[in-house]
Amino acid sequence: MASHIVGYPRMGPKRELKFALESFWDGKSSAEDLEKVAAGLRASIWKQMSDVGIKYIPSNTFSYYDQVLDTTAMLGAVPPRYNWTGGEIGFSTFFSMARGNDSVPAMEMTKWFDTNYHFIVPELGPDVNFSYASHKAVNEYKEAKAQGVDTVPVLVGPVSYLLLSKPAKGVDKTFPLLSLLDKILPIYKEVIAELKAAGASWIQFDEPTLVKDLESHQLEAFTKAYADLQSALSGVEVLVETYFADIPGAAFKTLTSLSGVSGFGFDLVRGTQTLDLIKGGFPSGKYLFAGVVDGRNIWANDLDASLSTLQSLESIVGKDKLVVSTSCSLLHTAVDLVNETKLDQEIKSWLAFAAQKVVEVNALAKALTGQKDEAYFSANATAQASRKSSPRVNNEAVQKAAAALKGSDHRRATDVTSRLNAQQKKLNLPILPTTTIGSFPQTVELRRVRREYKAKKISEEDYDKAIKEEINKVVKLQEELDIDVLVHGEPERNDMVEYFGEQLSGFAFTANGWVQSYGSRCVKPPIIYGDVSRPNPMTVYWSSAAQSMTKRPMKGMLTGPVTILNWSFVRNDQPRSETCYQIALAIKDEVEDLEKAGITVIQIDEAALREGLPLRKSEHAFYLDWAVHSFRITNVGVQDTTQIHTHMCYSNFNDIIQSIINMDADVITIENSRSDEKLLSVFREGVKYGAGIGPGVYDIHSPRIPSTDEIADRINKMLAVLETNILWVNPDCGLKTRKYGEVKPALENMVSACKILRTKL
Ligand code: GLN
Ligand code: ZN
Repeated sequence: MASHIVGYPRMGPKRELKFALESFWDGKSSAEDLEKVAAGLRASIWKQMSDVGIKYIPSNTFSYYDQVLDTTAMLGAVPPRYNWTGGEIGFSTFFSMARGNDSVPAMEMTKWFDTNYHFIVPELGPDVNFSYASHKAVNEYKEAKAQGVDTVPVLVGPVSYLLLSKPAKGVDKTFPLLSLLDKILPIYKEVIAELKAAGASWIQFDEPTLVKDLESHQLEAFTKAYADLQSALSGVEVLVETYFADIPGAAFKTLTSLSGVSGFGFDLVRGTQTLDLIKGGFPSGKYLFAGVVDGRNIWANDLDASLSTLQSLESIVGKDKLVVSTSCSLLHTAVDLVNETKLDQEIKSWLAFAAQKVVEVNALAKALTGQKDEAYFSANATAQASRKSSPRVNNEAVQKAAAALKGSDHRRATDVTSRLNAQQKKLNLPILPTTTIGSFPQTVELRRVRREYKAKKISEEDYDKAIKEEINKVVKLQEELDIDVLVHGEPERNDMVEYFGEQLSGFAFTANGWVQSYGSRCVKPPIIYGDVSRPNPMTVYWSSAAQSMTKRPMKGMLTGPVTILNWSFVRNDQPRSETCYQIALAIKDEVEDLEKAGITVIQIDEAALREGLPLRKSEHAFYLDWAVHSFRITNVGVQDTTQIHTHMCYSNFNDIIQSIINMDADVITIENSRSDEKLLSVFREGVKYGAGIGPGVYDIHSPRIPSTDEIADRINKMLAVLETNILWVNPDCGLKTRKYGEVKPALENMVSACKILRTKL
């Protein structure tokens, strides 16, 4: 019987690691304190898996920050600016790379594939002196062994490591990173030798880049790397693990032909092509690690369905070569359902977090050997059935309304230029109109008010009064600053998705369903379990109150359907597009209610539209089509004179600019200032853009206050490529993480820059 777990969350069931890390960083506890918490978490995870009966238990999937940074440390690839002088890399160098220190900024961080986890991007070049500088993998293996658990040490594979890295500063952008294979493989060999000496019988190499659209020379690098490692790996079984998508045919061929590799791991939850590839031919005598338990979601597995998939695979690869596994590391799901005391039993029976998924994997493996736990399987089948038929999941009216959307494009009847004209007659804005993205600083006091209201410690009236006072403060400030289109500041919201989820039906919230986003940062995504509908208006009350405080236009502020979808745990019993359309219909009702209440400018944030882009290029068009369609559905019903804004974070838009145009918003505000005006290059190259556009004129992620000149300079650069009458002036994103001491002078300078330019145009 063989069961395997690709990787496990590190934070602990109650985010113990987060608190230990932050206390250490704040100088409130010692390195020993931190190490003790970490060792405790590792020990309990290993014990838990071994108690359940998992055969292949991972080690080295723990990290104080990030597994790619751990690999950078292992290879001694510390950028010179951190002044590392050799020897084993300790906390000070490690955390300086991760978070920066007083004199040097952190290394760049980027999203790990299409997850919400972020890794620290290795900075490499021809001059890096690789050396074996972190023995973490071996130490963790030994640590588990001392506790009686023989684990599978997990390493980020050498080819994926290089493919995920970038040329260091000063190195030519076209530097072939894969040429460094020859330099890093000797270090991998040292690690392998130590792991073997310590007694490891399996080593797992994570090579998830294999699921991407790789070029043939990149695929060849895998062949070359594993051929080179082959003799070092003799005497130990090797698993090469892939995840996050169907594997392309060519990559499957490369992978299954690698020399010296005994097993291959696949994500069998995402897509179906990989299953077909396996059925079409799997090398004899090799192990198949079948990832049938979803590591990216919180749903209980459909055990009967998985068992039948596994049985069909058994007939292909042989009984003794099939290993039941998770689709990817459980890092991307919540930790343990036992801590959810507020969720009701029915919903809980539909869920499985990491701890429960480990049990599922093992139960499936046992069932394959004829030791099926009938009671466990039948409870699972009952829960699956209840989820299918529950009236809390199914809302026929919503399903009908969503089905009726098909076949229509949902495009506003008038083109954007005529709409902008009609809106301008009503709004009468100056050229280069100024606005902000929505939130204003969230003070300690404000958070306290919200918390106490939620805990019913303050009355409805007191809460109402406090929020209105805050809105009034923000309105007055914007009037003083002479901003043209105002916002109410979002003081009633703690999170732009949760706020809406809490008011929509079909959503549930966990108490401890945290998932690591980066470093010690975790997010707690809502769970969309049922058909989505909007019982009551969600924002009209506060937006109307805000509008009544000023004569200037007050933007209604909504989160768009694609962003709500991408930042939630989404149901897996219907296509994501279907769920997105349902949310779009709910937001549409809100948009129309805002319009009825006299709100003439409505912003529908799609901060996460870009990040939902699938890994494989072949799937982009389909995603963009339903995502953009969902956005249009939200506002197709408004009058020409109602101005629809949208906002997007991240500046990598060049590849999806046509889809952005296709959203057909009247105005888009978009991050720009951290990207060397990458965005503007699109327009420089001649893309026609007729709608209003506000590329952010300063970076809100930094406490730095931009000068008037600097902002004027930025605006001038934009004016060089964009028509004057479509340009808006605004910061990069919402201001909620900033202090008033930063926001006031920055906005003051922004408005001054604008006024100076207006006199010259
Ligand atoms: N309206 C939101 C705010 O200003 C947008 C946040 C975001 O784009 N992430 O906070
Ligand atoms: Zn933003």
